[in-house]
Amino acid sequence: MISFDYTEDERILRDTVRDFARREIAPHARRWDEEERFPGEIIPKLAALGLLGMTVPEAYGGSALSMQQIAIVIEELARVDGSVAITVAAHNGLGTGHINFAGTDEQKRRYLPRLASGEALGAWGLTEPGSGSDAAGARTRAIRHADKWVITGNKTFITNGSVGSIYVILAVTTPEKKQRGITAFIVERGAPGFRVGKHIEKMGLHASDTVELIFEECAIPLENQLGPLDGGFIDTLQILDKGRISIGSMALGLGFGAYEAAREYAKERKQFGKPLADNQAIQFMLADSRTELEASRLLLRRAAWMQDRGQRTTLQSSMAKLYAAQAAMRACDRAIQIHGGYGYTREFPVERALRDAKLCEIGEGTNEVQRMVICRELLGRALAA
Ligand SMILES: Cc1cc2nc3c(=O)[nH]c(=O)nc-3n(C[C@H](O)[C@H](O)[C@H](O)COP(=O)(O)OP(=O)(O)OC[C@H]3O[C@@H](n4cnc5c(N)ncnc54)[C@H](O)[C@@H]3O)c2cc1C
Repeated sequence: MISFDYTEDERILRDTVRDFARREIAPHARRWDEEERFPGEIIPKLAALGLLGMTVPEAYGGSALSMQQIAIVIEELARVDGSVAITVAAHNGLGTGHINFAGTDEQKRRYLPRLASGEALGAWGLTEPGSGSDAAGARTRAIRHADKWVITGNKTFITNGSVGSIYVILAVTTPEKKQRGITAFIVERGAPGFRVGKHIEKMGLHASDTVELIFEECAIPLENQLGPLDGGFIDTLQILDKGRISIGSMALGLGFGAYEAAREYAKERKQFGKPLADNQAIQFMLADSRTELEASRLLLRRAAWMQDRGQRTTLQSSMAKLYAAQAAMRACDRAIQIHGGYGYTREFPVERALRDAKLCEIGEGTNEVQRMVICRELLGRALAA
């Protein structure tokens, strides 16, 4: 039976995270953005709430949340700070999530408790300077020796790359097999031949750590192969089906935060002797934003609902992420417009929300890539029928 209500557990989770975000993150978000500094002090607090082990089973010290619950957490964090939201999303969904998804019992025992407790942050490296949307064009190479794997190449745009210490890295193992010749590896900070490259200066998400990673004949033990040989890209597609629900939820939170700020501002600010909110032009902007954000939430909740039932959500995840990212950009843009000149200043949070939301149209597959995935699914099924 489908319910549009949150369950009791989901309501408690939402209220807990909302309260935490308002107390511990919101008062600092503007400063962290301006200082362009990763707020390491928030990590133990996130861990204490169980928010760093959301994809980790309880047996390994995690909080084992459903996809529906993870979406709620990411939305609530993003309402006040996109940077903290992406830090948590990438750590849980990509780095940690990939180890939980494909790891052996031994790998899970070794890495998941450290990741869930916040002792170590996780990062995930697929993108390279020469291959983004075309991930199968990766050049980073892993060569097997008798007693080790040796990785050579560069990764870029890696979230948590310099603050993390456990990495999942995708590298080519059988070049002639293209995307079916890519394998995932676990690399620990301190591995010989591995170093962090330059920090990437960004338009938004200033308090999120984004860096290049450099592998120069980096040697890792054979047992650090994660998942089947040449199966890394196939596993990645499943990781991204979940990750796109997280990024869509981040967009939803950013859009909602901006929309609510605009709604309150419109009620308070007076021009021509009456509140801005008395003008139909302003009301219509609020109506459009709220409608599109609610539609985003329904798409995201359906994709998460299917994930939690073990169903394949490639189509639903891409549709939800594409729509939510665009809805968020429109909501942030309208929110700035409703704030007028003040919206263009850093004194109000809506310009930061717009800068942060733009990433949701790019990361984990651009809008164009989502459309390609959606069409592949639609036409693929049509052809097969
Ligand atoms: C803040 C941030 C954090 C990130 N975090 C991570 C991370 O943790 N790990 C990771 O691995 N990656 C990460 N990324 C990388 C991100 O996933 C890529 O930037 C994204 O996939 C796009 O790749 P690209 O930047 O190389 O763009 P390109 O692939 O070069 O695309 C450029 C433009 O061309 C379009 N385009 C490309 N191919 C086609 C086509 N066939 N048809 C139509 N249009 C096309 C794209 O949609 C885009 O508009 C992050 C990026 C950012 C900005």
